[in-house]
Amino acid sequence: MNITDPIYSDENKARAHLEKLQWPNGPVCPHCGSVDNATKLKGKSTRPGVYKCKSKGCRKPFSVTVGSLMHRSKIPLNKWLAAMHLMTSSKKGVSAHQLHRMLGITYESAWFLAHRLRAAMRDPNAGPIGGSNKVVEADETFIGGKAKNRAFKEPPKKEAVVALVERDGEVRSFHVANVTAKTLRTAIVTAADRASYLMTDENKAYVKFGREFGGHGTVNHSRDEYVRATFWHTNTVENYFSILKRGVFGVYHHVSEAHLHRYLAEFDFRHNTHKLDDTSRAEKALRGMVGKRLTYRRTSDATHT
Ligand SMILES: [Zn+2]
Repeated sequence: MNITDPIYSDENKARAHLEKLQWPNGPVCPHCGSVDNATKLKGKSTRPGVYKCKSKGCRKPFSVTVGSLMHRSKIPLNKWLAAMHLMTSSKKGVSAHQLHRMLGITYESAWFLAHRLRAAMRDPNAGPIGGSNKVVEADETFIGGKAKNRAFKEPPKKEAVVALVERDGEVRSFHVANVTAKTLRTAIVTAADRASYLMTDENKAYVKFGREFGGHGTVNHSRDEYVRATFWHTNTVENYFSILKRGVFGVYHHVSEAHLHRYLAEFDFRHNTHKLDDTSRAEKALRGMVGKRLTYRRTSDATHT
């Protein structure tokens, strides 16, 4: 499925696609949980895609977007799906400006939409990575500080990001207030199984809690080149940071401190699903749209009130 598929241009086909993804066994009432016990409402005055629950004591109307991140949105469903396809299939992401131009929606709507897509990509049940006989690379970097506006003498603040990547596996990244042994330890012991072999640079902060892991290697640049190339390296996490930075500077130009964790969820999601094809990746993200709602201040552009 590519961007020319009718689900990206026809709202009814987009809704049918979402229904098939969310309700493989027939419509599920979000109010009482009954499965395949609803009738589709028809008639000129009825919005398309509305069902009425047939369960005694419920009998409430619902649609596939109730309770989802798309709930009450004025943006047509086909544009939501197109935006998700673009964001999940572009290696460095897609900016609100690009979505605004490509989808013909206001910049403000595109901005809200993009943040809802990122929320859908965050996996609240993501467990620890690594395990015995698994190598987890950890490293920290700083994002920001390249703003072009030099009107203010004060340099832009840089934000610290810690990331852990299991070799040939998933990534978990975090925005941390500062880089200390305490913040590094909290992020790393939360996100990585302690049976893992931890690989870091020679930052002393890692040494103490590195002992809590199955093993701890530090990258020493004077080590034999062949051994370093095959085992003692942090290339995997460095590659992750390189894609993140190219995205943040090249596509998003600037990421505010308050939203950095959302961008990290987006880049983590793409890394963790890179083996899926574009269609499966977009469908996985769409499933994440259900049951998550952001409580942004409503604007007339972005939502009904
Ligand atoms: Zn019901």
